Amino acid sequence: MAARPVPAAAPLSVRLETLGCRLNEAELEAWARQFRGRGCRIAGADEPADLVVVNTCAVTAEATRKSRGLLRRLKRRHPAARLVVSGCAASLADVDLGDARIDLVVDNADKDRLVELAAAAQLLPPGLPGPDPDADAAETLFARGRQRAFVKVQDGCRYQCTFCITTVARGAERSRPLADIVAEVNAVAGGDTGVQEVVLTGVQLGGYGRDQGVAGLDLARLIHTLLAETDVPRIRLGSVEPWDLPAGFWRLFKDPRLMPHLHLPLQSGADSVLTRMARRCRSAEFRALVGAARAAVPDIGISTDIIVGFPGETDAQWQATMDLVAELGFGQLHIFPYSPRAGTRAATMPAQVPEPVKRERARQLAELGAVLRAASLDARVGRTLPVLIEGEQEDAAGRYAGGFTPDYLPVRLRNAPPELVGRIAPARLLARSADDAALEACLAPPAAALSHKGDRQ
Ligand code: SF4
Repeated sequence: MAARPVPAAAPLSVRLETLGCRLNEAELEAWARQFRGRGCRIAGADEPADLVVVNTCAVTAEATRKSRGLLRRLKRRHPAARLVVSGCAASLADVDLGDARIDLVVDNADKDRLVELAAAAQLLPPGLPGPDPDADAAETLFARGRQRAFVKVQDGCRYQCTFCITTVARGAERSRPLADIVAEVNAVAGGDTGVQEVVLTGVQLGGYGRDQGVAGLDLARLIHTLLAETDVPRIRLGSVEPWDLPAGFWRLFKDPRLMPHLHLPLQSGADSVLTRMARRCRSAEFRALVGAARAAVPDIGISTDIIVGFPGETDAQWQATMDLVAELGFGQLHIFPYSPRAGTRAATMPAQVPEPVKRERARQLAELGAVLRAASLDARVGRTLPVLIEGEQEDAAGRYAGGFTPDYLPVRLRNAPPELVGRIAPARLLARSADDAALEACLAPPAAALSHKGDRQ
């Protein structure tokens, strides 16, 4: 009697979660492709999982607390699953879950080999097929409802800003080889992948290449090569420190595939505070850099990070920050009340600012940020710009397709048919939205012809 065929083992179901920065997101996307390439399936948020992998964050005390909270929730949600933890909170040994078991902790220094280490720790069942280079790289992205791919180009940082725990948790600078980045971008975007945009991420993006000792290898060379050797329609830059920008940087923006948006962390507008932060850019240099950017790239959007209530920050120093922010007219502000991080120099500095003062200053800055945001949105009304349509959402005014302009302003299209999701379409920017958070828009010719089919009720 013929032997009963042994049913194929169900593929291992892997749940991937991340907190924090775009670099963490890029790492998660790479792990998703590698797990997928080994025959695992990527579990959705409401699906059971055999293995749970979490990329933690420790940029603030709140981020570490959230990382631990997420781990506990996932442990309760998937009690039988094995748990792998990586990221900054793990690298700082700050993920103790008491009696809840963590099966593998992967330090930031080893996280590019996380899938391999999980296999070596026998967290992947034997007999799974080896890496499959043909696995559809974009599939894992779309499976997670994303239209743009985050690509890690470097890790670590050589600087020691006194508030920064990232440089502690992520270690020395290390750039990925140029050819690997080009290959990854070609695998995950452009062509018939359906992915229209990649975001280049790193800890110190401006320092790309200089740890490689290859003459002329820098961020400009990287971008130039990606523009030449890939066909991805849009390349966007993650956060770039306001120094170390390579020669010829501004010229690159003449290529419409490089998105005219820069996130340049200022952190403070007072030079005395910038000195205590050990920042390498003073207020006058920052002002000049923004001026150079706007002169070279007229439509450029600029956003920034501000730390509120850095130790020793006086009212006058705070006012200097408010004045410079107002003067430079950022399109978006990321506001961080100062969070002392054990292991950083600032955590033990004198004159720590009381929490109520931090809260009041953060409120003032948020108020200013809203005014600047409204102005940056209004400045685009009446223009027609290409928008990458990313998905359908709803607000008080009803359903809309959301997306971003090249200079990273959010857009709400009320007449885009569902089949335009994932595509870049010309949009006429009509007005600031009622909640001041985005631009109301409609499809512009030739895409407008498609709208009649998708008119929203
Ligand atoms: S340059 Fe950025 S990553 Fe490096 S130490 Fe300063 S804040 Fe941290």
